[in-house]
Amino acid sequence: MIHDFNYLKADTVKEALRLLAQHKDDYKIICGGQSLLILMRQGLVTPGNLIDIKKVKELSYIKFDPKKGLTLGAATTHREIEKSKIIRKHYPILVDLEENIASNQTRNWGTIGGNLCHGDPTGDPGPVFIALDASVKIANRQRERTMLLEEFFLDFFETALEEGELLLEVRIPVIPPKTAVAYEKFNIIKNDQGIISVAALITVNKDGSTCKNARIVLGGAANTPLRIKEAEKLLTGQKISPALLDKVGKKASEMSSPVSDIHASETYRRYLVDVLTKRMIKKAWEHVATSLKQ
Ligand SMILES: Cc1cc2nc3c(=O)[nH]c(=O)nc-3n(C[C@H](O)[C@H](O)[C@H](O)COP(=O)(O)OP(=O)(O)OC[C@H]3O[C@@H](n4cnc5c(N)ncnc54)[C@H](O)[C@@H]3O)c2cc1C
Repeated sequence: MIHDFNYLKADTVKEALRLLAQHKDDYKIICGGQSLLILMRQGLVTPGNLIDIKKVKELSYIKFDPKKGLTLGAATTHREIEKSKIIRKHYPILVDLEENIASNQTRNWGTIGGNLCHGDPTGDPGPVFIALDASVKIANRQRERTMLLEEFFLDFFETALEEGELLLEVRIPVIPPKTAVAYEKFNIIKNDQGIISVAALITVNKDGSTCKNARIVLGGAANTPLRIKEAEKLLTGQKISPALLDKVGKKASEMSSPVSDIHASETYRRYLVDVLTKRMIKKAWEHVATSLKQ
């Protein structure tokens, strides 16, 4: 049963921030409610005040600038991202990502801000957005601040959001030329949270023969989405070969720290990290190679 609470609806960011400041440590923000309501029904979260931001229009937008990249308002739904023509054109990986998140019903309600602020290490957007070098804009009543999404996730279901702060926006820079991104999650139930997921971004050099830059980010392999810089370094300046892929997959597996639970053992998760890392690098690499031939 859900614990009693006061329901407070904000229509503007200003009003939301005022309510957050007023109710200090006894509130929870609700947007789509797809993650929060589960925790409330389980009695794991019992806020005295529920501050609803779902109808704050200022937080719902998708904008693209050819120099600055993509900005998503925190209350933009998964479904809006999935169906956006701008995103399909400039960031098709986000469409693939969204199509594999939950069901239409959940995607119609759940928001990108809610997903990131929930801080679930198996959440799908985290690894892909970090691979794309995303940052987040956060505000309280006094100030605004921006930070890399990579630094936003602090621990299991814990983010850098402080008391009184609201996530306003997620920003993704323009994807550099000669770059491709690949993402896959391994799950038991289709479109459910992944057991392990891997996002890989590969940028190749001028003639496409070697890797200029790589970003590899794991989901479900630690308490937060995990960027594997040691594995990325192995790729820089190198030509992709089966031997190199084996080395990188092994390194990613070593650097991860998954747990054992009812869904999979730690050993199996490490094995999945190895397999998916190799597969995603190869996929991204082949994608760039094909686009260079066109
Ligand atoms: C059946 C089901 C299947 C799912 N499958 C997947 C899946 O495959 N992959 C996946 O990644 N996710 C999945 N999810 C999780 C869900 O899609 C996301 O977590 C959802 O996007 C949360 O968004 P929301 O707006 O509903 O957040 P809410 O539930 O409203 O909020 C979630 C958390 O974020 C906080 N919050 C929300 N907005 C803000 C803000 N702007 N600023 C600060 N804090 C904020 C809330 O206080 C709360 O702590 C699934 C959920 C369900 C119910």
